[in-house]
Formats: sequence, structure tokens, C-alpha cells
Amino acid sequence: MTSYQDLGIRKIINAFATVTIYGGSIMAPEVVQAMTDAAGSFVDLKALHRKITERIAELTQNEDAYVTSGAAAGILLSAAACVMHKTPDDLFSFPNIDHMKNEVILFGSHANGYDFGLRQIGTRVIEIEHSRDALNEAITGKTSSIFWFLGTMNQATDMPLAEVIEIANQHQVPVIVDAAAQLPPVENLWNFTQMGASLAIFSGGKDLRGPQASGLILGRHDLIEIIRRLSNPNQGLGRSLKVGKEELMGTLAAVERYLAMDHAGRAAYCESTVKLWCEGLNALDGVTATRDYPNEAGQPLAWCLLTVDQAVVGKTAPEIVQALLDGDPAIAVAPMNETQFHLNPMTLEAGEEQIVLERCLALLG
Ligand SMILES: *Cc1c(COP(=O)(O)O)cnc(C)c1O
Repeated sequence: MTSYQDLGIRKIINAFATVTIYGGSIMAPEVVQAMTDAAGSFVDLKALHRKITERIAELTQNEDAYVTSGAAAGILLSAAACVMHKTPDDLFSFPNIDHMKNEVILFGSHANGYDFGLRQIGTRVIEIEHSRDALNEAITGKTSSIFWFLGTMNQATDMPLAEVIEIANQHQVPVIVDAAAQLPPVENLWNFTQMGASLAIFSGGKDLRGPQASGLILGRHDLIEIIRRLSNPNQGLGRSLKVGKEELMGTLAAVERYLAMDHAGRAAYCESTVKLWCEGLNALDGVTATRDYPNEAGQPLAWCLLTVDQAVVGKTAPEIVQALLDGDPAIAVAPMNETQFHLNPMTLEAGEEQIVLERCLALLG
């Protein structure tokens, strides 16, 4: 059997984040086991999908749930379900949907690569400012949904999500929250929908440590029933976003594991690792290591901010980031600017915190 090594592909220690370019996350052992078991038999896929999603809905305190091939797929399917909500027979109209509710409202400051999933199905994306007036004015008879993205794009000047939901409810327009990387805290699996968002979307392949090609859509039953109609094994927009029996069982195992996980212990591991790094690296001339919080996508976990003085260390921060990646072992860290980068303990396997420290000491000392 060919390995990564046989292919000349180096394994990477991930001190960056759950980023897709380095493989997202490592599947939890329970998930690998569930996928292996699932792979060994044929089953009725529709029946399995229904059972799995009922169980995930119950576990996450949501009305309904859907497993798809990633959060990006979830964005596309959620938007499509809202477009079709009032015209359920228009299953095969996409992307020619001008006769349907073809507009999606997006806050301009949230625009990001993933919003292509909205345009891809033919919607007109209406970008607005963060104000009640702008939102009220943008909502028309053609509005199918309002998208709210969570992650590095959020700023203190954003409208509060609760206010967006309140206005959307007055117009009976669904609010969809893309919370792909908003785990932890685990409570986010129900927080957004309990606030009144119609659907909340999560990556299965980030902190859930489920299959890399999996994602969750949680929330309103009527909208998720539409997603079922247009998705695998049915024909429609979602057919090309297929998940198999393996991803279904793996995602359920990931959700079960995540709910039972010791989240306090995990946060404590991040704190002690950041402390280890700060103590070790602050001993070097021209290097300042400090605890930073929250981390990359706003998760409530500590990470370590390194500031380097090029005059002393002899390298810029981007040069150090590249050298860590090119080194042996290869270590991915989170780039920031010319003088700073982050080390993130969130995605490390046990023992790797020490390797990261040693490599940084060797490179910066
Ligand atoms: C990671 C991410 C996605 C994409 O998630 P996948 O599961 O890789 O498809 C979408 N939106 C945001 C905000 C993300 O952080």
C-alpha cells in the first residue's frame, strides 16, 4: 500500500488551525472505527441518512439536522432550500432562478471566499452595511435568506446577530449562520438556532474531528426536508455533494464524541502549552512570546503570539513561518504580519508541543 512517504509527501505538525490546506483535522479514533465498520456493509442509504440526522438533531437539541460534504456545501444547500421554500416544484430550475426568490442578503464586511456558494446556485447577493435601516431596506419580496458569517471576518462594529434575527423575523426571512469553525464552544451546536437562526452550518472536518469531507446543517425541519429532496441519493443540486454511509456514521460518531469530550481539560491543555512555549521562547533575545485569546477563528482557547525583532533574530516573521514549514519535521504555524505569527496548540497531537518548542528554539536562538 502506497504511503504519503512513498509519494514524497511530508507529514506536517499542525500548529496553525483547522485549515483545509493542511488537511483540516485528524479524525478521532472513534470516527475512524465508525467509518471502517460502515464501509463493510451495504445499507439503505435514505433510511440511514434519516436515522443519523434524527439522532444528530436530538443530540444537538435541534428540530432537524442534515449531514453534507462540508460547511461550504452546507452554505450552498441552505441557500438553495430558502430559494425553493415557496416554490418546492422548482427543484431543477437552478441556476436560472430569476422567477424565484433569488436574492440573498450578505453584510459586505462578511464577504469571503465561501460566499461563492451563494452565487453558484444563481442567487443575486445583495451586500449591505451593518445597520437596521440598511437591512430593512434590503429585504424585498425576492429575498430568500440573510447570511451571517462567523469567523475572522467579524468586527466589533457588526450589528448584533440577535438584532438581525429580530428584523428578519418581522419580515419572515430565514437567517442562516455559517458557523463552520465556531466549535468550541460545544454549545454553539444549539446556541444559534436557539437564538432564532433558521439554520446553523458547521464543518465536520474541523474541531469536530469527523470525516474531512463532512459538514452539518442544523435547524428548521421544513428547510432541511427541502435539502433532503435536492440531495443524494435524490437528483438535484446536492447530488454532487454526496456523502456516503461512511461519512454519515463517522459524523455521528464525531458528534457523540464531541458532546462527551472533556472541553475544560482541552482548554487547560492549550493554557499549559502556551505557558510552556512562552517560558521557553521568552528566554531568547529578540523574541517576545505572549498568551493570546481567543484564537484564530475566535474559539475560546489560548494560543501563543510571537513577536520577533528582525535586527536581533536575523529573519522576518514570514521567513520563520516558511522555515518551520520547510524544516524537519515540517511544522505549520499561523502567519500574521512582518514581525508576528502565532503558534496554536488546538490541532496538536500529544507530545508535539515539545517538538514545536524545540524547533522554534533552534530556529530563533
Ligand atoms: C472552514 C470554513 C468553511 C468551509 O468549511 P468546509 O467544511 O471545509 O467546507 C466555510 N465557512 C467558514 C467561515 C469557514 O471557516
